[in-house]
Amino acid sequence: MAEALTLAAVSHSAARAAGRVMARCDTLAAISETPGQLTRVYLSAEHLQANRQVGEWMAEAGMRVWQDSVGNICGRYEGQDPSAPALLLGSHLDSVRNAGRYDGPLGVLTALEVVSHMHQNGIRLPMAVEIVGFCDEEGTRFGITLLGSRGLTGTWPADWLERQDAQGITVAQAMENVGLSPLTIGASQRAASDFCAYLELHIEQGPCLQGANVPLGVVTAINGARRLNCEFTGHAGHAGTVPMGQRQDALTAAAEWTLAIETLTTTAGRNLVATVGTLECLPGAVNVIPGQVKLSLDVRGPRDDDLGALQKVLLAQGHEIAARRGLTFAAEQFYGICATECDESLQHRLSQSVLHLQGQAMSLPSGAGHDAIAMAECWPVGMLFVRCKDGISHHPDESVTTGDVAYAVQAYINTVLSFDGGHL
Ligand SMILES: [Zn+2]
Repeated sequence: MAEALTLAAVSHSAARAAGRVMARCDTLAAISETPGQLTRVYLSAEHLQANRQVGEWMAEAGMRVWQDSVGNICGRYEGQDPSAPALLLGSHLDSVRNAGRYDGPLGVLTALEVVSHMHQNGIRLPMAVEIVGFCDEEGTRFGITLLGSRGLTGTWPADWLERQDAQGITVAQAMENVGLSPLTIGASQRAASDFCAYLELHIEQGPCLQGANVPLGVVTAINGARRLNCEFTGHAGHAGTVPMGQRQDALTAAAEWTLAIETLTTTAGRNLVATVGTLECLPGAVNVIPGQVKLSLDVRGPRDDDLGALQKVLLAQGHEIAARRGLTFAAEQFYGICATECDESLQHRLSQSVLHLQGQAMSLPSGAGHDAIAMAECWPVGMLFVRCKDGISHHPDESVTTGDVAYAVQAYINTVLSFDGGHL
């Protein structure tokens, strides 16, 4: 079915726009603290340089431009009614260390092409269109994430200003070093009535679109996640003297549970994933039966109730295996984040655009976190994913094709113009 897919042609202007987006991704990738690699972190000279560059492009697209009090670069293209809640498009401009060049910037630069298209053609929607290039989504420098989007939602925890980077510089000091004031962070907060919706385009960072042989997909939800420390406790013993039938081997129990996790999660379906990522075997000697195994469990999924049900089943299985083998089992959750559901009507708008272009709509959850997590606390959110090569991300090999970006730009333009009340 995927091979028979016929893609509709994109307009010449969308194809040209895609070329511009790719070139601008290269321009931003060169703004880095490490020569030959891309690393651009919050409140660095490169952060402000990237903001200035994106601000220039925003101005060229007919936008009023400002940098807000936490360091987001913002632009506004006025609509017919200045008092109507605006449509906000955005993504982030910061990066991980030795990053790829599309994670984040692709969403900002395609949004710029949407506004540029409107500007070139004299199109004004009933509401303004704003673009935001968020200053810190990845949390690379200070170990706290979504600082940019939480500036807009006004939900910076009080202790964030005191958080330190690896050199011991606090967020507050770093802000002052680049001319921002920690005293005015509240000014970046936007009123709930400022926006009607938030849309974000992003590379998929996974292999599903490539597997389905389509350039674009619509995000249903950003996965919730839970992380647990787990432990099987049996009895250590002499590897030579204790007969096989009389052992309480913690590692074989952990191995059985790990395989059960794979089977039970696969069977559960519903886009759930579960991973045992660490395993510590004690006492850890070649000639000793493992008496204790500590292992981690990471479960994720787009719906919190499914996630909760799976977690319950997996832990019950751990207890069952331990009991049958004469061991004990314990598990403790140390991290949890709820799933973020994308707005249904925004999903529908995006799906219509995608369907029109690629002949089939494709929906998928996001396994990675995004600015939309924070934005969803205040506004309806929708996300469009673009295929990336082999699902590779957070790595210099991150890659998208100009052809796919042309589809992305066209779908984004069509979706935004649908807010005019017209048909796609
Ligand atoms: Zn990202």
